[in-house]
Formats: sequence, C-alpha cells, structure tokens
Amino acid sequence: MISISSVNRTAAAVNSAALPSLQPLRRQQLLFLPPPQSHHSRRCLTVRAIDATQPYDHESQPNHRSTQSTKLRIAIVGFGNFGQFLAKNFIRQGNTVYAFSRSDYSSIAQSMGAVYFSDVHDLCENHPDVILMCTSILSTEQVLKSLPLQRLRRNTLFVDVLSVKEFPKNIFLQVLPTHFDILCTHPMFGPESGKHGWQNLPFVYDKVRIGDEDCRLKRVDDFLDIFKKEGCRMVEMSCSEHDTHAAGSQFITHTMGRILEKLGLKETPINTRGYESLLNLVANTTSDSFDLYNGLFMYNKNAMEQLEKLGLAFEEVKKDLFGHSHRVLREQLFGTETES
Ligand code: NAP
Repeated sequence: MISISSVNRTAAAVNSAALPSLQPLRRQQLLFLPPPQSHHSRRCLTVRAIDATQPYDHESQPNHRSTQSTKLRIAIVGFGNFGQFLAKNFIRQGNTVYAFSRSDYSSIAQSMGAVYFSDVHDLCENHPDVILMCTSILSTEQVLKSLPLQRLRRNTLFVDVLSVKEFPKNIFLQVLPTHFDILCTHPMFGPESGKHGWQNLPFVYDKVRIGDEDCRLKRVDDFLDIFKKEGCRMVEMSCSEHDTHAAGSQFITHTMGRILEKLGLKETPINTRGYESLLNLVANTTSDSFDLYNGLFMYNKNAMEQLEKLGLAFEEVKKDLFGHSHRVLREQLFGTETES
C-alpha cells in the first residue's frame, strides 16, 4: 500500500519538476480518485498508464487526422545546391529547417533562417519530424549508414529526393528499422528549371512504407502539401516505373546537354528559337554536378539501354544522310542506275 504522504510527495514532485517536460502528454497522468466512502479514509492511487511517453512520442498526440496542414521540422541532410533550393521554399511556408552537410554551410543556412548543425548527433537529438536525404546519389548509402538512428524519434519519416528511385527505396528498406516511415520522392525540377516557381512542375512520389496511425499518415500529407501548395503536379508512381520513364527522358536530356556542351555551342547574331532551346538545355543540364549525371547512369538500371539506343539512333541518322548523299553522287556520276 502506498501512503498518502508519499503519494502527495510524488504528486508535488510531478507537478513542480517533471511536469513542464511532460505537459504535452495529457494521457499519461497519475489520476487520484475521490476519497472512498469506506470506513478507512485512505485514498487509492490508480495508475491509468504505465509507459512514460516522451514529448516526441506520437502516441501522445491526438489521434484524429486533421485536414489542416501542420508545420514540420525538416532536417535536410546534404545541404548542397538542391538542398538549399528546397530549404528556401520550406522556410517560406513556415516550416523549420535543420541542415547538416559534409561541408560547412552554417552562414548560408543562417542567412536563409535554417539551423545548421555541424554534428549530425545534435541534429538527430533535436527530433525532426522528417529527415530529408538531399545527398548525391553516389554518397547516399554511406551517409545514411552513418546517421545515428538511435537518437531519432522512433517513427521519424525518412524522405529522399534522389533523381533515381529504386536505389534509395532499396537502401532505405535495408538500413532503416521498420519503425521508421519511408517516402521516396523526385521533384522533377531543379534550381535552374524551378527558379521562377514550381507551378505545374511534376513531383513524383511513392509512399513506400508508412505506419497506419493517423498522425503518421497526416505527416506524409503535410510534407506532400508543401509541394502541392507551390502548384506542383503531384504524380504518385512506383519507384520502378519512375526509373523506366526517367531513363528515357531525364537521362537522355542530360546526355544531350552534355554532348552539346562538348561542341562548345556559342551565341550567334542569328539564333533561331530551336537553337536557343539547345543553349538553354546546355545551361540547365551542365549546371548540375557531374556526380548527379553519373548517378543517373550508374544507379538506374535502364540507363545503359537508353545510352546504347542513343548511339544506334545517331548511327542511323548518319546512315540516312550518307546513304542519301551516296545515291545522289552515284546518279551524277553514272546516271540513273538500272537494276542488274
Ligand atoms: P549532387 O552533386 O547530386 O549532391 C550534392 C550533395 O551531396 C551535397 O549536399 C554534398 O555535400 C553531398 N555529398 C556529395 N558527396 C558526398 C560525400 N562523399 N559525403 C557526404 N556528402 C556528400 O547535387 P545536388 O544538385 O545538390 O543534388 C542533391 C540530390 O538531389 C541528388 O540526389 C540529386 O539527384 C537530387 N536532385 C537534384 C536536382 C537538381 O536539379 N539539382 C533535382 C531533383 C533531385 P557537401 O555540399 O556538403 O559536400
């Protein structure tokens, strides 16, 4: 039996010291029943919940799915070109951005209102709602494996924005314990093509593994809402379907841009519209890192086939040209040839 005085001391201690940090946890309370009408005047202590949830435990959150989007605390891992580009829009919409990268981007982060962490342990101990992997395709596996996952909240949402999708999906599933949620995404635009806004630009996503609690489903909706609000065209698609389409479109686009760059195309006084679109293509694709382009090739199993098709198509175009010229030349040399 617990004595009243010890119960009161416990209650006082809970109220004075521990309560500030436990306040969000309305469910987890020691409840005192009214004094029993029995012959002995002692009050009983009823413990209604025994697990001490922490403020980051979603069990303690209301269990209904509100339609209003909640601001998120998004940790961007890999704060390079694309990470910074996304961060500006996240912050503009009122979300909190934490950032971590191999290089020191503290002053850039500060200038845009993000919180920069030079130690990834500190970042994780701040329990972001979302970890957004914005690392190069080539480094993502190594960076993911180096994260101190044990410091994160148990159901943290992991999102990636890699330009290939089967690869991050597979490493997320391999590396992340089952209590983490996984959303694979690909914003089909970058700092160059999205510099005037994201209206009607495609945003591909695949809800790979999301826990079925309302608060977890809502958190994914809240994240996707950021892109919806900017006017993106939201496309839900499997990672493997994405990779098939992207090899035939995005990889070819980048390859053509890099081939044309090798030609050293220059402005002329008589640029046609078509030629200007080629100059834009070169500018758009070569402003991305070579790592990105290399990642499109190495980590999309469909890319090799597309590269071979491109080579064959070029040969065929040459054959058409040379074949046609050869025929014309022979006609001039020998007159119209008769079948032998
Ligand atoms: P990127 O060259 O693909 O990636 C640069 C980022 O990767 C930087 O944050 C860099 O960190 C980090 N990184 C590279 N090597 C690393 C290593 N060995 N260890 C740790 N971190 C490393 O260029 P990006 O344009 O910023 O793209 C980032 C991601 O977004 C890529 O996965 C890309 O596919 C995707 N994405 C890009 C675009 C785009 O238009 N740029 C569009 C959609 C999706 P430091 O800067 O600290 O060195």
